[in-house]
Amino acid sequence: MLQRNSDLLAHTLAHPETLPQSEAFTLADGTRVSLPHTGVLWLEPAGPTAQDVVLSAGVHGNETAPIEILNRLVQDLLTGQRPLRSRLLVLLGNPMAMVAGQRELEVNLNRLFSGAHRQGNTAEHQRAALLEGEVRRFFEQGGEGRSRFHYDLHTAIRDSKREKFAIYPFRHGRPWRWQQIEFLASCEVDTILLSHNPTTTFSYFSSNEFGADAFTVELGKVRPFGQNDLSRLAALETQLGRLLADESLALETVDRADITVFDVAQVIDKHSEAFAFTFADDAANFTPFPRGHLLATDAERQHRVAAAEEAIVFPNARVANGQRALLTVVPVGPDQPFE
Ligand SMILES: [Zn+2]
Repeated sequence: MLQRNSDLLAHTLAHPETLPQSEAFTLADGTRVSLPHTGVLWLEPAGPTAQDVVLSAGVHGNETAPIEILNRLVQDLLTGQRPLRSRLLVLLGNPMAMVAGQRELEVNLNRLFSGAHRQGNTAEHQRAALLEGEVRRFFEQGGEGRSRFHYDLHTAIRDSKREKFAIYPFRHGRPWRWQQIEFLASCEVDTILLSHNPTTTFSYFSSNEFGADAFTVELGKVRPFGQNDLSRLAALETQLGRLLADESLALETVDRADITVFDVAQVIDKHSEAFAFTFADDAANFTPFPRGHLLATDAERQHRVAAAEEAIVFPNARVANGQRALLTVVPVGPDQPFE
């Protein structure tokens, strides 16, 4: 029982497929807690609140550090050590992959949102449908006119020249919010990638369908449970705690000069089994290449750097055909709208 041990992670790992029973209980301060499905936790304060916050981790099962951070935050909330003044939905994305210690069982869960889950029936397709439904119910029950946030927390597979970065989903012409970029910088996530295309990620779903300030946040390299140095995520934990308590976020301490914003320049999909990169398998994220440089070949196709310089992010030649194998980014242009 979650009510007894306050350990969402242990509870989820013990019941990765389905819960023996759903749970609902009330904390001493009146906060209503419910656990309708494995890895799906709702916390709703008794008093008035102004914001609805979704925090997710473990959409890729082996990305453990953010799962541990969320578990700690939840533990502090359930035991009354931290105040909660926001409605909160915590999602551990892919419990079965978490137990297996794998990024995914069959398919990449973070490509199955905005309805893409209807095109298959694997455990991941079913989980994406369930997660979408919970996020929809959560935001709709909160109602219109409230602040909505969704931070989907990940860690990267490879080394990175920039340890922590976030992807700001395509906003269909709505301005990018500088306050959000500063908030992430205050979490030591000081590199932001502006996406210019619709996609099927979890954060795009919340952004596009509910107008949430939503991000895919990358927090460093993958390690197994228990082997993470959570002190590297201390700023994130502090700031998420402040957000949930609806306290001042102390953004005035952020130095604009420390923030780097990139535009996503190219999204390179894999089309054939012949797809191959020209750079080393272990090349770090944000490694730059000059104009004209051949980045990848894919049967007859050649993918080259088009801008003066583009840096690589998320190279993965082992994705399924039709899926993204690489992003490239360029320093943000002068015409990007911020508000
Ligand atoms: Zn991930």
